[in-house]
Amino acid sequence: EKEALKVLVNAKSISTDGHEVELAGNIGGIKDVEGVLKNGGEGVGLFRTEFLYMDSDHFPTEDEQFEAYKAVLEGMGGKKVVVRTLDIGGDKKLKYFTFPEEMNPFLGYRAIRLCLDRTDIFRTQLRALIRASVYGKLCIMFPMIATVQEFCDAKAIYEEEKANLIKEGVAVADNIEVGMMVEIPAAAVLADQFAKYADFFSIGTNDLIQYSMAADRMSEHVSYLYQPYNPAVLRLVKMTIDGAHKEGKWAGMCGAMAGEEYAAPILLGLGLDEFSMSATQILKARKIINSLSKKEMEEVAAEALNKQTADEVLAFVKEKLAK
Ligand code: PEP
Ligand code: MG
Repeated sequence: EKEALKVLVNAKSISTDGHEVELAGNIGGIKDVEGVLKNGGEGVGLFRTEFLYMDSDHFPTEDEQFEAYKAVLEGMGGKKVVVRTLDIGGDKKLKYFTFPEEMNPFLGYRAIRLCLDRTDIFRTQLRALIRASVYGKLCIMFPMIATVQEFCDAKAIYEEEKANLIKEGVAVADNIEVGMMVEIPAAAVLADQFAKYADFFSIGTNDLIQYSMAADRMSEHVSYLYQPYNPAVLRLVKMTIDGAHKEGKWAGMCGAMAGEEYAAPILLGLGLDEFSMSATQILKARKIINSLSKKEMEEVAAEALNKQTADEVLAFVKEKLAK
């Protein structure tokens, strides 16, 4: 089977009725770039930069980060690279930084919340990213955005650092996109408003499911509630994609759901533009996408969203695919 998939490495990701999507890879650093390319990735849909911070004994300097981002952008040879700004906190801690004591760290001081408070840390990362932008096609996205204000505040800091660098005579790409993760239900519900400001969305289903179902994604005791196919989750995904498209923006997904065999038909039907997953899942996903009709999947998705349970959705999709 592996051999059979290899012919798809340089193929397009395109439905039987001609609708093209993008299949990208999730990476944690430069070491993962080769795998994405070897497996036919059309870009990087999520670069989790927290590993740069977690693998260090100090906050990585602007130059250290610049080298890392440059290497990834060059490694991808001009293909799109979506870099997520620091998503630390929750379960992800640093040896050299003390987080406040909180009852619920997953609902607390983390990700963009921390960055908007410690703008020194945030500005260093943004400067490194903007400097690296001339080495490829850079998209920057902010994690855990809950309000339009947060997005606009983060974007304003980005604009300030971009202007500073230009004033300093540093070369800066003029096609950097600035978007956000949609992984908090409030952002999904209000996606049409966020889309007025963000250049793109990337849906983080790992957290979106956790927060929608109020079920800790790490806890085996409530894992039965971790339901990607729950119609409530699917409706939030639909709202996000529709919100983006209403403003002419693109919507991707970088949570684990993007690589799931039975999610692909629904996501294609809902109009998802970009699917980002582990490198090893890309070719299989391409094979599935290339076997489906977008038009038919629109009907499948519409019906799936009217089911009552995740089990009903899954059974329905399996039945449709068997035909
Ligand atoms: C997500 O939340 O779906 C996601 C892609 O980010 P992470 O798994 O790093 O929280
Ligand atoms: Mg997340």
